[in-house]
Amino acid sequence: MKTDIASLNFDRLAEFVAENGLPKYRTEQIFRWISRGVLSFDEMTDISKDLRAKLSETASLPVLQTEKKLVSSDGTTKFLFTLEDGEHVETVVMKYEHGNSVCISSQVGCRMNCAFCASSLKGLQRSLTAGEMLAQVAVANRECNVSSLVVMGIGEPMDNYDNILTFLENLSDPRGLGMSLRHVSVSTCGIVPKINELAEKKLQLTLSVSLHAPDDETRNKIMPVNKKWNVRTLIDACSNYIEKTGRRISFEYTLIKGVNDSVRHAETLAKLLKGMLAHVNLIPVNYVMERGFEPSSPESIRRFYDTLKSKGINVTVRRTLGSDINAACGQLRHKTEAGK
Ligand code: SAH
Repeated sequence: MKTDIASLNFDRLAEFVAENGLPKYRTEQIFRWISRGVLSFDEMTDISKDLRAKLSETASLPVLQTEKKLVSSDGTTKFLFTLEDGEHVETVVMKYEHGNSVCISSQVGCRMNCAFCASSLKGLQRSLTAGEMLAQVAVANRECNVSSLVVMGIGEPMDNYDNILTFLENLSDPRGLGMSLRHVSVSTCGIVPKINELAEKKLQLTLSVSLHAPDDETRNKIMPVNKKWNVRTLIDACSNYIEKTGRRISFEYTLIKGVNDSVRHAETLAKLLKGMLAHVNLIPVNYVMERGFEPSSPESIRRFYDTLKSKGINVTVRRTLGSDINAACGQLRHKTEAGK
């Protein structure tokens, strides 16, 4: 069995290097190459041919073959990658005034089964390794020069917690990409025990919580995870997270016509978040054929926004980017595999 060296943190890589009888300085070289998104040992040009051959006998690098690269009229770039076992993941680069932001997947498929989402239509295939997550950033960075990251692609990051932590450690390591965690957001549907564990790490990243409903009755209908950890339990975990880390939480709220977009929902939401160090992102739901949910009308979105605003909640309506290239939420992988 070869060692998946892109999934080791720096210290573990150093151990691997020592065990293989290589000089210490090789650790930094290899670590740097991995962070630059090389996908074969042959690209590690400051390492001799003999040594590369020797390395490839005991070590492996992630496979991330670019299957499709689509560029939207708004500049959004979407990659569909094929992994070693033939599975697919999506990675999206969004262009903003302040720089490019990459959105990566954390799993192949998802088992959370949110009612509006395309990612879990076929359940969870497997979690991604730390190396596969870093490779998504590194490969996208080679082409698009990314300055920030959101873990908001396919999968539930808190359902792949250990690998996410190693990935974040390597991403922010100054000997590699050195991305500050202040430029990183991790999004969860609300796995409360993991939010509590993460709070203890006191990382500088932004936690995004996919709330989508302010009461159990509504949330139970669209997010099965709510039956395990309900709205109150989730909000308490969020308050604890804010207290421990001092970081503002970003709540995602996707507006679905007739489901969660009434003024009453907005008022309940405002009450729920009153006084919290929080920000609400409103996003009209992206239509997924198999799911059938329709986005709220511009008027309902405006009303929802105004209600929150008038009650002193920090709120923005997020632009939809890349909808002409199926950039939304697991749609490209799904359509490709379904042959559409
Ligand atoms: N599992 C994590 C991260 C991946 S989903 C989470 O739930 O947060 C990233 C975001 O996209 C989440 O807020 C999710 O609820 C939202 N989302 C999924 N499908 C969507 C759709 N069809 N339209 C709009 N947002 C969607």
